[in-house]
Amino acid sequence: MDEFNFGTVRDYTKQLRSIRNWALKLRQLRPRIDTTWEEPADWVVKDSNIHGEPARTLTITLMPTGCEWASLGGCTMCGEFEGSTKGDVVSPIFHVAQFASAVSKYVPDYNPSWIRIYQEGNYINQNEIQRSAQLTILSLASLIYGIKRITIESMAKYITPRNVKDLSKSIKRDIELEIGMGFEAENEVIRNVCVNKGESLDDFSRAINLLKEEGIRTVAYVLLKPPFLSEKEAINEAIATIQLANDIGFDAISLEPVSIHAFTLVHALNLLGLYELPWLWSVIKVAQNVQHIRDFRIGGVGFYPRPFNVAHNQHSNSDVGCNKELWDKIKEYGRTRRFEVFNNLECNCKKEWENICKTPTIPLMERIDQQLSLLNLDSYKLATSEMQFQTQSFVNHTTAIAGGTQYKR
Ligand code: SF4
Ligand SMILES: [Zn+2]
Repeated sequence: MDEFNFGTVRDYTKQLRSIRNWALKLRQLRPRIDTTWEEPADWVVKDSNIHGEPARTLTITLMPTGCEWASLGGCTMCGEFEGSTKGDVVSPIFHVAQFASAVSKYVPDYNPSWIRIYQEGNYINQNEIQRSAQLTILSLASLIYGIKRITIESMAKYITPRNVKDLSKSIKRDIELEIGMGFEAENEVIRNVCVNKGESLDDFSRAINLLKEEGIRTVAYVLLKPPFLSEKEAINEAIATIQLANDIGFDAISLEPVSIHAFTLVHALNLLGLYELPWLWSVIKVAQNVQHIRDFRIGGVGFYPRPFNVAHNQHSNSDVGCNKELWDKIKEYGRTRRFEVFNNLECNCKKEWENICKTPTIPLMERIDQQLSLLNLDSYKLATSEMQFQTQSFVNHTTAIAGGTQYKR
């Protein structure tokens, strides 16, 4: 299964320590963010699909306490901690009130049949959202008229027999509950060094089995282009990861092309020209290679805080090029789940992408050492302080192209 000869995680002890230090130092630069109970931290409406039928999805993001794993450094591409209270546990009353308020405002307008409840971390980790709030919010969500599916997210390690039973009991029988987990990559070095996920294949298998026993569905998030990988390696790794996720029993798989979030290692590398976002041709290539997967989704845009930039094709002139057309196709795929929408797409930029996919690489460990040695915290601080204002319009621009149909502005 493992096609890369990257060695083992143990070979990368020095690199991993440095990656964790950098991830942590960068996260500490942003002060905490607060919201009120009257408004969710974020909300997005999207057209989607449940078991072949069109469905409207409402994502409600509750004020995050912040992912506990991110508070130790966390995943190298993830900017979700940046919108949190940075570890001050949000009270259950606040979380329930915020959820109820969001439901009363947005459900009547959009009539969703699928509700995603995010708090940019681990829904079933009591240090992030207390058990009373977890269960009350799920019960309330399952009482909403017309709701067929509820999605929450967690790292595999928080999934225990006890909390799986509690979650299952709080949902009405005819509603699907699904839990998304960041499986990210099948190769252990990519998952646990390049991404710094801190989870093994066994963690995922154990969680899937526990959830299956209670009839809870599982979704694997699979990254497209973690840092330090070439475009070609990233495509091959994503295809292999989707296959492995399917083989170990995930019910659904969501391809997540990496996006750029402030105060992350990926952003710091990107500013130095050491990391480029995946091309949309790569997203399409992966999709075309996994057509046998039953419930295959494409995500990579629904985050709070919103990313600076998302996967796109590069054009020598500065216009949008084919990006709007291709993101429209990805959205059409999300609504219809028809892989044919990706047939016969062409643009001048495709040749450039093909050339990039042929670019030779140096050994992974050398690449990591080289790139980490170029990072400089003071330069990053300076660059981001200058960027705050400029990037605002770009955030809106990319959100408009790639994001939901309606969203918090
Ligand atoms: S990707 Fe998930 S587990 Fe990783 S730092 Fe972000 S919220 Fe935490
Ligand atoms: Zn193009």
